[in-house]
Amino acid sequence: MKHLVMGTAGHVDHGKTALVKWLTGVDTDRLKEEKERGITIELGFASLKLPGGRILGMVDVPGHERFVRNMVAGAAGIDLVALVIAADEGIMPQTREHLQICTLLGIRKGLVALTKTDLVEKEWLDLIREEIREFLRGTFLDGSPVVPVSALTGAGMPDLLANIERVAEGVEAESDVGLFRLPVDRVFTMKGFGTVVTGTLMSGAVAAGEEIEICPLGVRSRVRGIQVHNQAVEKAEAGQRTAINLQGMEREMIERGYVLARPGTLFPSSRLDCVYRHLSGASRKLKSRCLIRLHTGTGEVMARVILIEREELDPGGEGYAQLVLETPLAVVAGDRFVIRSYSPVTTVGGGVIVDPLPAKHKRSSTGVLDEFRRLEGGGEAERVAAVLARSGMGGSNGPSLIVRTGIREKELGKILEGMFARKEAVLLDREELKVLSRPVYDGLQEAILRELQEYHGRFPLKEGLSREELRTMLGLGDGMGQKIFGMALRELEKKEAILAEKESIRLRGHQVRLKAGMEDLRGRLSQIYREAGLAPPTAREILERFSDRNREMASLLQVMIREGELVRISEELNFHRDVLESLRDDYRKLLLREGEATPARFKELTGLSRKFIIPLMEYFDATKLTMRTGDRRILRERQGKDGLR
Ligand code: GDP
Ligand code: MG
Repeated sequence: MKHLVMGTAGHVDHGKTALVKWLTGVDTDRLKEEKERGITIELGFASLKLPGGRILGMVDVPGHERFVRNMVAGAAGIDLVALVIAADEGIMPQTREHLQICTLLGIRKGLVALTKTDLVEKEWLDLIREEIREFLRGTFLDGSPVVPVSALTGAGMPDLLANIERVAEGVEAESDVGLFRLPVDRVFTMKGFGTVVTGTLMSGAVAAGEEIEICPLGVRSRVRGIQVHNQAVEKAEAGQRTAINLQGMEREMIERGYVLARPGTLFPSSRLDCVYRHLSGASRKLKSRCLIRLHTGTGEVMARVILIEREELDPGGEGYAQLVLETPLAVVAGDRFVIRSYSPVTTVGGGVIVDPLPAKHKRSSTGVLDEFRRLEGGGEAERVAAVLARSGMGGSNGPSLIVRTGIREKELGKILEGMFARKEAVLLDREELKVLSRPVYDGLQEAILRELQEYHGRFPLKEGLSREELRTMLGLGDGMGQKIFGMALRELEKKEAILAEKESIRLRGHQVRLKAGMEDLRGRLSQIYREAGLAPPTAREILERFSDRNREMASLLQVMIREGELVRISEELNFHRDVLESLRDDYRKLLLREGEATPARFKELTGLSRKFIIPLMEYFDATKLTMRTGDRRILRERQGKDGLR
């Protein structure tokens, strides 16, 4: 059986606290100030044992206008509400506001406790009941029991208990995301224990000894002990009023609104995408960018509402919005929130978070709206696809997909398998469950082909584009970017769209084709190098000589080097292959004859100046003809034969 929490709601002085006391024996007005002023300020907690044996957690909320913020924090975790209306006063402002808040928070079940019946006549009571029925029409409490009671005489209490039991049985166990989350509603120090936090366990479970993270603080701690209904327990589950004793935490570090979670499962965020509904009773339009108070879970932060589709929203209107928070909160897609205006402080609306980790949106592009629609109303795979689309080339991983879709881990695995099979997503890393949107991945492949196409168009004489250059052009970073890039290249190769050689990438169909006139030019170059023999012109000299055809010349040189006709010795020096070959022969013969060669001897052999000698000798070292010992060169082949180590 699911653990349930019932909350009170209703106008100040209507008898909420007296009712809780009558039902549970607990006086929830604990504070000195509460006792003196006779009103509830803070949330009160108790547990209610129903006649059938079931135990409900109870949260008593303040009714006073000034403490609605506390009321919202208390109402955030409840499954059913006891709306308390005093028979002598009837429906009052916070009766309405609290009912609205409960509606916005997605509470679906409850009943009305019509209190203080001892103060009114029967005819009056009938009138009030009629008024209440009217008031509830169209709300989630429409048709729910309205039970007259008196906390003074106890009249109607058995009837109330029976009705609470019935309503509690009708609460459907909603599937939650399964992550352990405890939004903190109180923090205090207990002698001999240290810091204790309490809250209604929103989802998942927690056991003594576990490591937890305090969000959005990012600090970790360990669960020293757990209490549920004043009993020490080993484990607390969703729906239970839970007190957790934290190891090594200062009371001052924790505030109401923080959330306890397993490390690495929640992500604090300053932007939240949502569907926002402006209450029909709101006195003003909601203007985009206006400053508001955002309540979600037990937290309250200042934020701005950025409307996506329009500049303002009329009372009763609904629209997509991005909330920009002054302080980050850790929430999950599907979480409800309430918005209260900055001044005067009244509840103006609320809604549902559809993505807790969005980027800033560019002004209402159709893509943005489409994503919102899919996140709001799409099936599970569609929501995952929308989040992946939003994650772009960076992809997304398991924990962030869970938080951004509100889908349980187990189901997420199945959904992703289906998406891989249908080619809607690509798996990048099984361990991390790192996933990329298939359309994004396809887009990357198209971009690779486009870049290559353009490159070949611009540099027809170049064989291809270097791997690194291409990766930079596509804006892909190291690490995961590199991995995605590699995957895309391999796939394009398999499709026979590209050829990826060690360093250069080119389109399958690309061939270096010399345009008319180029063959001519190439012939001339070839001749220049042959004739220059061991003293070729530098690349710069060549370019100067053909200054009118500079770009073609540069490309030609590269083509000739790549094809091996020219051999590149240094930045500036190229030799014709044949010239170099015959030098190699002569050099080898000399070495065989003389055993070694100094630069001076090499100079004699070639008749060249130092400018050429050093690079050439180094070239022969590098190409393994020779090896260097001090200033001399010896033949490598000879060394091997002589058994030198
Ligand atoms: P809350 O602000 O809604 O929590 O209201 P309280 O429970 O603090 O009650 C406000 C006042 O009404 C207190 O003085 C209570 O003693 C009184 N009260 C509460 N319930 C009843 C009732 O059923 N009959 C009468 N006569 N007085 C009540
Ligand atoms: Mg009270």
